[in-house]
Amino acid sequence: MGGMATRDLDGNLSTQIDELAALVAAAETVAGFTGAGISTESGVPDFRSPDSPWMRNKPIPFDDFLASEAARREAWRRKFAMDDLYRGARPSRGHLALASLVARGKMPAVITQNIDGLHHESGIPAERVIELHGNGTYASCLSCDQRHELAAIRKRFETESNAPTCEACGGPVKSATVSFGQAMPEEAMRRAQDLARACDLFLVVGSSLVVYPAAALPVLAKQGGAALAIVNREPTPLDRIADLVIRADIGVVLESFIVRN
Ligand SMILES: [Zn+2]
Repeated sequence: MGGMATRDLDGNLSTQIDELAALVAAAETVAGFTGAGISTESGVPDFRSPDSPWMRNKPIPFDDFLASEAARREAWRRKFAMDDLYRGARPSRGHLALASLVARGKMPAVITQNIDGLHHESGIPAERVIELHGNGTYASCLSCDQRHELAAIRKRFETESNAPTCEACGGPVKSATVSFGQAMPEEAMRRAQDLARACDLFLVVGSSLVVYPAAALPVLAKQGGAALAIVNREPTPLDRIADLVIRADIGVVLESFIVRN
């Protein structure tokens, strides 16, 4: 079982946390980069873990979503079931720590692989959250890009049981996430790359750094001369090029960065 040391950090871990604090203090610009691990404390399970609901169903590829009304209906049925499971999710200590770094002017933006919207909820302005895999807290029309709110879509879905279509243009409406087989959002990727090149500390929190092209960002940062710090429970393929690797509970490691008003 966990047995996470929250009060009595062992010497090694507290030394590592001090090293992280020193890296953050020395940096003028810190790029935050987050994956599923930052949201586990929030009650959002890592979608790759075997007990995750994401793993019980084969993902619906983007082409299938486009081609088939039945696939769209199934995607929306799953989406709403998932929303019910994670309705209570709140920002973790990791989210709050990054929000504090943004508020202090240390971190121009957080780049995230997550779709749970918890960085926004932690108080980071939307323009400072770079979402590589989109956002699951709203939907958009695949034809005209109009934003659609989930509550209204759900109401219609539950009464008509057809996959939602856009009232403006009739196009298919999809959760604003990037599906398997769907192109990465270009603008978000470009902004993430710019930040990786510009930062002097690239701070990875809760990502196993295996999903490309996102996992190439820390390498880009290193090539630009930045330090690389990785806080993750599991080893990552980039640990060997990192300046600091902390394999411990994210909340414990980042708690001291939280500035509470
Ligand atoms: Zn439309």
